[in-house]
Amino acid sequence: MAFHDEIEIEDFEFDEESDIYTYPCPCGDRFTISREELANGDEIARCPSCSLIIKVIYNLDDFLQGHGKEKSAIQRVAIAN
Ligand SMILES: [Zn+2]
Repeated sequence: MAFHDEIEIEDFEFDEESDIYTYPCPCGDRFTISREELANGDEIARCPSCSLIIKVIYNLDDFLQGHGKEKSAIQRVAIAN
């Protein structure tokens, strides 16, 4: 599988309402991957408007540890670092 790019999860934008991480795609749309997909070990973000895909760089264990505490400022700092 050929990835357009590999992007760290910190560089994604997180939409709390939809629970989805997004990252700008060169086509003008955005790559998307849900928090649930990441928790399931799915690391491929897809753009709905073109065929490009990117690999999300993240640590599943760290991600799952933060799961459920996503509203806390402490975890936001942890993700940012
Ligand atoms: Zn695209």
